[in-house]
Amino acid sequence: ECGFCEPVCPSKGLTLSPRQRIVMWRDIQAKKRAGIDTRELLHSYQYQGIDTCAATGLCAQRCPVGINTGELVKKLRSQAADHAKTADWLAEHFHTALGGARFTLTAANSARKLLGAPRLGRLSAALSKASKGRLPQWTPALPQPLRTLDFGPASNDARPRVVYLATCVSRVMGPAYADREQSSLLDKTRALLEKAGYQVVFPDNADSLCCGQPFASKGYPEQAEHKRQELLNALLHASRGGLDPIYCDTSPCTLRLVQDLGETRLDLYDPVRFIRTHLVDRLEFSPQDEPVAVHVTCSTQHLGESQALIDLARRCSKQVVIPEGIHCCGFAGDKGFTTPELNAHSLRSLKNAVQHCSEGISTSRTCEIGLSSHSGIDYHGLVYLVDRVTRPRSI
Ligand code: SF4
Ligand code: SF4
Repeated sequence: ECGFCEPVCPSKGLTLSPRQRIVMWRDIQAKKRAGIDTRELLHSYQYQGIDTCAATGLCAQRCPVGINTGELVKKLRSQAADHAKTADWLAEHFHTALGGARFTLTAANSARKLLGAPRLGRLSAALSKASKGRLPQWTPALPQPLRTLDFGPASNDARPRVVYLATCVSRVMGPAYADREQSSLLDKTRALLEKAGYQVVFPDNADSLCCGQPFASKGYPEQAEHKRQELLNALLHASRGGLDPIYCDTSPCTLRLVQDLGETRLDLYDPVRFIRTHLVDRLEFSPQDEPVAVHVTCSTQHLGESQALIDLARRCSKQVVIPEGIHCCGFAGDKGFTTPELNAHSLRSLKNAVQHCSEGISTSRTCEIGLSSHSGIDYHGLVYLVDRVTRPRSI
């Protein structure tokens, strides 16, 4: 109960801090054992403790004894998870599930074209309020849909190979309609890797693959592990038994994949580590004058790449801003849609901190939706910035 974990928690001040989550849970259990009726307490705890936890485990980074309150919350979610059959179906028909996500984004995009952004914003806010938050609110930062992608066969030439794992989020979510960057993360990443002289290879059946993170955070660890193993097998095959490096374009998914790899030999990289170890020597950087804001995701922190991300940003821009006091954005995959107040609370000081920046960078597309919404500037993947300021190094 030292409270060292509290400053990094996005829900502190909105609902509970990690310390309070643990203390309250312990108190509820003690009351239960003493035969006291805890129904009302449990009802409050559902929102205060469980629903408003981002479950990214940033608290564990600060805890002197390594307590990860996010893991406790995920365990509690899994005890209450009662849609196992739906989760099974989604895991088995992941390609179809992604089609549903594309359809939803297409419908939102068509509504924007029809009604105009301001009117859709007002209408969606009213509908979201009337449904008590069950209908997510549309914002101008919402991604446009990406069509089903044709990854094509590998060309197999003399260039070094890199396996590109485009995560489900980057396969579905394109840029926001008003964003000045209108290439998808996938196209931008492929172009950057090729500029640095790599031959880009995709795993087979790429559109059905997922690291399992959406299942894990919703409390379905079995389905999550099934998807993770399926993906690891596909990566093992695509990388010729672990011979080729694997580039994963989203930090949270990389973190999930590199944990507990056991005997599986895979050379897996998040964007920051791949760029600093494989691309920096192959590219010439001409830093831009425009200031850039950096958001270090929770996963980048867990992966130990925070300083490396800031250093890379400094190679790309002469002015780099790291907003103080923002540790986890609170978007947490889809919480930005389902519990938007967590995202808003966590990023309440962002706009002031970055108002003179021309753009922000990060390594998670979903975090970028919330960051763009609450900052007034567009947030992009790190590769957009690196691609803009580099050219192939002449050897
Ligand atoms: S979870 Fe860890 S850091 Fe937080 S109050 Fe308990 S002991 Fe301290
Ligand atoms: S996982 Fe994140 S939101 Fe949940 S208690 Fe820990 S720091 Fe707070």
